[in-house]
Amino acid sequence: MSIVRVDGATQIDLKAIDPGDTGLFSDKAIAKELLKLERKRIVAVQQRLFAERAQSLLVILQATDTGGKDGTIRNVFQGINPQGCRVWSFGVPTEEELAHDALWRYHQHTPARGMIGIFNRSHYEEVLVVRVKGLVEEAVWNRRYDEINDFERLLARNGTRILKFYLHISKDEQKERLQARLDDPAKHWKFRVGDLDDRVRWDDYQAAFQDAINRCTTPEAPWFVVPANRKWYRNLVVAKTIADTLEDMNPEFPPEEPGLDKVVIPD
Ligand code: ADP
Repeated sequence: MSIVRVDGATQIDLKAIDPGDTGLFSDKAIAKELLKLERKRIVAVQQRLFAERAQSLLVILQATDTGGKDGTIRNVFQGINPQGCRVWSFGVPTEEELAHDALWRYHQHTPARGMIGIFNRSHYEEVLVVRVKGLVEEAVWNRRYDEINDFERLLARNGTRILKFYLHISKDEQKERLQARLDDPAKHWKFRVGDLDDRVRWDDYQAAFQDAINRCTTPEAPWFVVPANRKWYRNLVVAKTIADTLEDMNPEFPPEEPGLDKVVIPD
């Protein structure tokens, strides 16, 4: 099995999806060449999306620590017009954010027409870290699944296509990646001892991810479970999914002003 598009018809079991899977691919070098082609497709359609200013794309990335959200953004979106793209990373909420409803801070950063918006963590944290760490009562996080579905439906009805990627790594792979960060002084800036608390709660997080995926899958906003132990495979399938979606959105250059053929540029 390779990348899994969750369609809502069946419930997924994360344990049954192999994080080390690479689908039909076994050759890293070939995958890297194919990634370049997928990036070209993304760049070509982004130009039309930006010019058209009618639709937008929201790409949501969720993963456990070291799951590869940053690396995915770096590799998949290389070469696109920065003017047409915004990345938002969501950390611990501020006092002001906490004084509002849970979706308030995310809604402010959804992509405007013509734009690609990338959420590095997202409103799903409200049913992930918040649930696992018990930051609000169960009754509160439990109703958020419906609120998220309503929120995403609102965005979709207003011209935003939504793609949600869960980067699925194994617990062993996370250990290796954390160890690599510890061993390399150039990676120490990424290492937070506090992240180890989350590792201890691995099973709780997996359960929370699985529920978020199963309870928040709608036709407007599909989830994709991406086997992500192999970074080259992860990058390729995320890029391909985004390229396919952008082509399906099929933005068009706006009509030109009439009479351009008669225009003479003054000296
Ligand atoms: P990342 O781990 O994504 O590279 P950071 O190191 O800045 O980025 O970590 C962001 C932190 O913010 C994570 O520990 C995450 O659990 C926390 N966080 C994100 N959203 C929320 C939220 N709504 N409530 C509490 N904590 C949150």
